[in-house]
Amino acid sequence: MEWCESMPKIELHAHLNGSIRDSTLLELARALGDKGVIDFSQVEHVILKNDRSLSEVFKLFDLIHIVTTDHSSITRITKEVVEDFASENVVYLELRTTPKVMLALEMRQFGVVGIDLSGNPAVGDWITYLPALRFAREQGLYVTLHCGEVSNSKEIHDMLDFLPQRIGHACFFEEEHWKRLKSSNIPVEICLTSNIRTLSVPTIDAHHFADLYKAKHPLVLCTDDSGVFSTSLSNEYKIAADSFGLGRKQMFELSKNAVEFTFADNVVKEDLRKTFNSGAENLEL
Ligand SMILES: [Zn+2]
Repeated sequence: MEWCESMPKIELHAHLNGSIRDSTLLELARALGDKGVIDFSQVEHVILKNDRSLSEVFKLFDLIHIVTTDHSSITRITKEVVEDFASENVVYLELRTTPKVMLALEMRQFGVVGIDLSGNPAVGDWITYLPALRFAREQGLYVTLHCGEVSNSKEIHDMLDFLPQRIGHACFFEEEHWKRLKSSNIPVEICLTSNIRTLSVPTIDAHHFADLYKAKHPLVLCTDDSGVFSTSLSNEYKIAADSFGLGRKQMFELSKNAVEFTFADNVVKEDLRKTFNSGAENLEL
């Protein structure tokens, strides 16, 4: 674990709200309880728990939704999330959030590099979002999609047809989807703990990471919601090492390869390559 923490890492699939510190959530929830907005006694034990069940996970997301509505809380949470990732040697982070007022295009100067399609995968139609995603692409924004979070063959097919720059999860893929994915070489954001906790894959041994890794398909390990799922990016690497027999050199390569899948410009990518090259000299591989 210590070694995984010392290795430079790249996080490309982290939701701001899901990455909130337990201690901060506790503090914000208590304050809302004092104001009478929520019943603090109903949520306290869920916040203090580490091994949350799926229903508790949803309960926490509901709570987070309530506590992240004002500017100062969101500023604080964002700062802490960046600090937490930096403290475990995440050298590049793409954080996802849902702006309530502006559009992504207006905020490019503040670091917006792309857009993501996410939300409840059981509702809505892919076709609804297609014009907006096409427009974003025309404007030069990169696109990543939550894809295959539930079993929906047609939707997965259509999403792959769109040829996004990356996809997240890829859990409920069928044979035809794997073929298309592999031939298109679209990088996959793999979130091991999240997939297990949300019951998207039955066991870690059955996770599609193994097959994709063996096929040398472009992959990046990510946390999804490090706060809600009580994990860290270092922990995800450790799980991959323990479950799929990856050695240090392989973990390092996996981490380094992610530079090429970032939505960063060439200057940033070149900087990251240098960071990894010097990391390789300093780490025991
Ligand atoms: Zn996600």
